[in-house]
Amino acid sequence: MLTQAPRGTRDVLPTESYRWQYIEGKMRAAAALAGYREVRTPVFEHTELFARGVGDTTDIVQKEMYTFQDKGNRSITLKPEGTAGAARCFLESNLYADALPCKMYYLNAPIFRYEAPQNGRLREHHQFGLECFGAPEATADAELILLAFRLLSELGIQNLSVNINSIGCPNCRPKYHGMLKDYLADRVEHLCEDCKNRFERNPLRVLDCKKPGCQAQVKDAPSMLDVLCDDCKAHFEQLQACLDAAGVPYRINSRIVRGLDYYTKTVFELITTTKDGNLTVCGGGRYDHLVEQLGGPDLPAVGFGMGLERVLMLLDAEGIQIPEPAHYEVFVTYMGDHRIQAFHLVESLRNQGIRADMDHCGRSLKAQFKYANKTGAPISATIGDEEAENGTVKLKNMATREECTVPVEEAGARILEMRKDEE
Ligand code: ATP
Ligand code: MG
Repeated sequence: MLTQAPRGTRDVLPTESYRWQYIEGKMRAAAALAGYREVRTPVFEHTELFARGVGDTTDIVQKEMYTFQDKGNRSITLKPEGTAGAARCFLESNLYADALPCKMYYLNAPIFRYEAPQNGRLREHHQFGLECFGAPEATADAELILLAFRLLSELGIQNLSVNINSIGCPNCRPKYHGMLKDYLADRVEHLCEDCKNRFERNPLRVLDCKKPGCQAQVKDAPSMLDVLCDDCKAHFEQLQACLDAAGVPYRINSRIVRGLDYYTKTVFELITTTKDGNLTVCGGGRYDHLVEQLGGPDLPAVGFGMGLERVLMLLDAEGIQIPEPAHYEVFVTYMGDHRIQAFHLVESLRNQGIRADMDHCGRSLKAQFKYANKTGAPISATIGDEEAENGTVKLKNMATREECTVPVEEAGARILEMRKDEE
């Protein structure tokens, strides 16, 4: 137990964190390009926020939340998704009083869901999410879809399929609920246990079930798109016009409904095909009534969430190499007595912005070189007896084996020159 992380969690090791930093950098840049600024909200919130925001009938609220009583007897839940917390923050800080829309993103936000761990499904995962509050126009929906598409394409992910749908609004959806319920009524005995429950509470969710048996049952179900009200229909047409104008290929997929209650009108998923089947890497949509439902003004909003683990998984699956920065630029090696000079040199190099290190484990000179090689440092800087006596240091290009001896105070400048030559 002691040396085993809880099931469904994953460490990011020091040797692999550069991969995360790489995609995080691209994500920040993608968000900034469209005017989204970062928001950071707590990892836990009052349970009520999710029950109210995400919806009592969702799998998330019914089965998947990490909920506990804190010492003050409050019911607390670890964030099972990012939107409700962002909306709470938007309201609490009166951000709606500023000029709208209010565009925000969160990066690397830990998300907790008690799900059955499997490939691409963890109990703690991390999301890049964007929320745009106060924008009713479909241009905002399209902007988000394009942002996600551009980001994933730039990262090199291929076979991306943009799936869009509209699930209507409180005006037109009840009619569809009725139609879907009628359709499912004859088939309910063939649905999984969860879907039998969903049939009673929220039939739309049956469309979202990933079990092949249920998917077969809903194959010929009526489509929400046939019963959209004029407003929702016009909105969906606008969205398509924007995507057409941008030339991004997309698919209208009336089976996409998303697992959360707060969605209205647009819902979308970016799906890739892997050898293990389809994988949704990004999902989002419009939630025009969430803010009001949380006690705020009646303000429309739209957003998406993208799983970082899934992005990394896809990069792996497609064999896309992420450039690994050299751990050190310089490794300082020294002979027995000259530890303090070596230490001084390392610190002076660091003061000049050069990534440097030395042995801290009492290795022999030979073992220091071996270790230096292992770190991949392109340059070594050695202080032997002669160098110590003359106040010099011997620099060596580890790849070409070229050497030169320079006064110790010039070492930094010389290394920077060598760095330039490499570039
Ligand atoms: P799925 O349909 O795969 O269960 P979801 O609809 O529950 O996904 P969202 O709540 O929309 O997913 O979350 C947004 C994104 O977060 C997903 O598209 C996916 O990339 C990622 N994600 C969701 N759940 C997990 C999980 N358990 N482990 C890893 N990544 C996840
Ligand atoms: Mg899910």
